Amino acid sequence: MPDKKNHFETDAIRTQTPTTGEREHSTPLYMTSSFTFDSAEHARAMFAREIEGNVYSRYSNPNTDEFIEKMCRLEGAEMGVATASGMAGVFGCLAGLLGQGDHVLASRSLFGSSHQILSQILPRWGISFTYADVESPEKWEELIKPNTKMLFLETPSNPGLDLIDLKWAGKLAKAHDLIYIVDNCFATPYLQRPIEFGADLVQHSATKFIDGQGRAIGGVIVGSEKHMEDIQFFARHTGPALSPFNAWLFSKSLETLPVRMERHCDNAEVLANFLGDHKHVNFVKYPFHKDHPQLELAKKQMTRGGGVVCFEIKGGYEKAKLFIDKTSMVSRSANLGDTRTIVTHPASTTHSKLTEEERQAVGITPGLIRIAVGLENSKDIIGDVEQALG
Ligand SMILES: *Cc1c(COP(=O)(O)O)cnc(C)c1O
Repeated sequence: MPDKKNHFETDAIRTQTPTTGEREHSTPLYMTSSFTFDSAEHARAMFAREIEGNVYSRYSNPNTDEFIEKMCRLEGAEMGVATASGMAGVFGCLAGLLGQGDHVLASRSLFGSSHQILSQILPRWGISFTYADVESPEKWEELIKPNTKMLFLETPSNPGLDLIDLKWAGKLAKAHDLIYIVDNCFATPYLQRPIEFGADLVQHSATKFIDGQGRAIGGVIVGSEKHMEDIQFFARHTGPALSPFNAWLFSKSLETLPVRMERHCDNAEVLANFLGDHKHVNFVKYPFHKDHPQLELAKKQMTRGGGVVCFEIKGGYEKAKLFIDKTSMVSRSANLGDTRTIVTHPASTTHSKLTEEERQAVGITPGLIRIAVGLENSKDIIGDVEQALG
């Protein structure tokens, strides 16, 4: 692996496990549950972690190691853990770092299952949380309690595409000694690197833009050694390990992350501009669109706006359903970050477990539609959206 810090595109391609005796050019797949020892003494030393190396694929594997190493380079992190899903990663961050009596301050606009972990699962172990509203950062400090241990953020948020000032949040976390975690799934390290703004840890659902082709579920957490050691301990013994096959896919996918993200952004910008001017649309939300209320902030912390656009159709749920049913090329699915453009109605699907009030609070109205813009020709995407809008 190169020690030197290369440019992003180069690190995404050239971070690679050393070649085996076969002199293969592309990293092979290591489908093995365990690894062998030279001797009884070697086995003892490996288990004592006196010698670095692979013992058992729940702990580490060359494919997961390559994926983690690459993500660390791309996010500017010291250490990482790969997980079987994005949610295993979110749970790993929370359960690996928090204990009974601790409190989490989280941005309100969170991925649906992250909300379920905070509101339904962690309270069983005496871990409480408070939501902070994106629109009123001046009130966040008052929400910090003596037992607050963590600041958990998602920016841009799903599906509302609201932003949080990462640098400002970093100062807040530092002033109150909070572990600062950012779910960077929507932006990817190509567009936004939270650690540069003070985050301790960055969490990803690799299922989305990292795989980028809608094939596999997985996740990864990267960040400072201090906190990652605890998460690694938790993961090694509770077992949310990423499969070597999925790690192999993700590491290869990362080679094309920069070119894919550029095209996702190109297509999303064109679509956001089209929707912003359409007579059947109340509003469009896209971080780099001229109408986004946080456009200045978007430009400060992201290089481009990402691959997700959302908009509110005039006529509420009835018209939203009609639009979704009329799309012909665009896929009806709940995923995002795929080569294929996907349309989702958050209120009735991904965010249906929230109460009406909770949805209102994060702007998930009945007419809100999320489009995860793919890599097809933008004219074909617009063509389909235009005919479906009627
Ligand atoms: C999809 C997603 C997750 C969960 O990831 P899975 O891989 O589906 O478990 C977490 N956070 C965000 C922002 C997501 O979009």
